[in-house]
Amino acid sequence: MKAFEFFAARDSRHALALLAEHGASSQLLAGGTDLLVELKSASHAPKVVIDISRAEDLKGIVLTEQGLRIGALVTHAELMRCPIVQEMAPALVDAAHTIGAVQTRNRGTVGGNLVTCVPSMDSGPALVALDALVTIAGLDSHRQVPLIEFFAGPRKTILKPRELLFEIVIPGKNLGKPAEFLKFGLRKGQALALVNVAASLWVDWGEHVFVEPRIALGAVAPTVIRATRAEAYLEERAITPDAMAEAGRIAAGEAKPISDFRASADYRRELIAVLTRRALENACARAKAKREGGSG
Ligand SMILES: Cc1cc2nc3c(=O)[nH]c(=O)nc-3n(C[C@H](O)[C@H](O)[C@H](O)COP(=O)(O)OP(=O)(O)OC[C@H]3O[C@@H](n4cnc5c(N)ncnc54)[C@H](O)[C@@H]3O)c2cc1C
Repeated sequence: MKAFEFFAARDSRHALALLAEHGASSQLLAGGTDLLVELKSASHAPKVVIDISRAEDLKGIVLTEQGLRIGALVTHAELMRCPIVQEMAPALVDAAHTIGAVQTRNRGTVGGNLVTCVPSMDSGPALVALDALVTIAGLDSHRQVPLIEFFAGPRKTILKPRELLFEIVIPGKNLGKPAEFLKFGLRKGQALALVNVAASLWVDWGEHVFVEPRIALGAVAPTVIRATRAEAYLEERAITPDAMAEAGRIAAGEAKPISDFRASADYRRELIAVLTRRALENACARAKAKREGGSG
C-alpha cells in the first residue's frame, strides 16, 4: 500500500471542506471494505484519504415527512437490525443479508455500496424498486435525484469531485409497498450476484390488477437498470402466473448481460426471466399476506 495523508472528518461539512482543499488527489473512506482492497492493489493511490466514518450527520435511519431517511453511513448490518426497515422495506433487509459475510456487513455502508457503482451491487436494485432518491451534498448546496439517475456507468456515478453522498430516501408513499429481492450467485455465501432482481408492486384488489409495478435488475447491464418495458406490460394487467412469466421474458430482453468466466449471457438472460417471475410472485404473496393482516 502506498503512503497517504489521513484526515478524520468531524461531519459532512468538514469532509466537504477537506475535499475542496485536497481536490482530485483525495478520496473518502467510509467502511473501507472496498477502498482498502483498492488501496492495497492499485498503482494510483490517492494522496489524501478522508475518513468520514465519524460523521454523525451521515448516520441514522429516521422517518421524516418525505419518507424513510437512511444516512449514507448506515451499515448493511444496521439495515438488517432496524425494526422500521424490517417492517417497511423488508426487501432491503433481504438484500443487505446477502452482502458478503458478517464482517463485511458490519463495516460496509449502504452509501459506499451505491458509490462503488459496480453492476452487481446488492442494495441498488432493492432501493431502485422502491423509487429511492439520493441526496448529494456539496459545500454550498444539496441536490436530490432518483437513485436510478445516480448511476452513470460501471464504477461511475454522477457525483462531482467535491461532492459526497449524504443520504438515501425511500419516499413515504412506497413505505410498506410489497417487494421482493432475489440474488443468484455461484455459491450460497460470499457470492457476487450473477443476477439480482428486485420487484415491487401495489395491487388493486377490486380489479385484481398490478399497480405501479417496478422491476430493477443488477449485474446484467453496465449499471443497475429498471426493466421499464416489463413494468409497462404489467401496469393495470390482471395478476396471473402467465403475466408474471411474460414480464420475466420481457425483462430478460431489456438487459444487456455479458458472457464471462462465471456465466454466459444466455444463462444470465434465462436467470433474469426466472428470478423476475419469482420476485413478482413473492411480492404478490407479500401483498396478499399484508391484506390478510399477516406480516407482509
Ligand atoms: C469480502 C467482500 C465481500 C463483498 N460482498 C459483497 C456482496 O455480496 N454484495 C455487494 O453488493 N457488495 C459486496 N462487497 C462490496 C462492499 O462490501 C460494499 O460495496 C460496501 O457496501 C462498500 O461500503 P464501504 O462503506 O465499505 O465503502 P468504502 O470502501 O469505504 O468506499 C467505497 C467507495 O465509495 C466512496 N464512498 C463511500 N462512502 C461515500 C459517500 N458517502 N459519499 C461519496 N463517496 C463515498 C469511497 O471514496 C470509495 O471510493 C464485498 C466486499 C468484500 C470485501
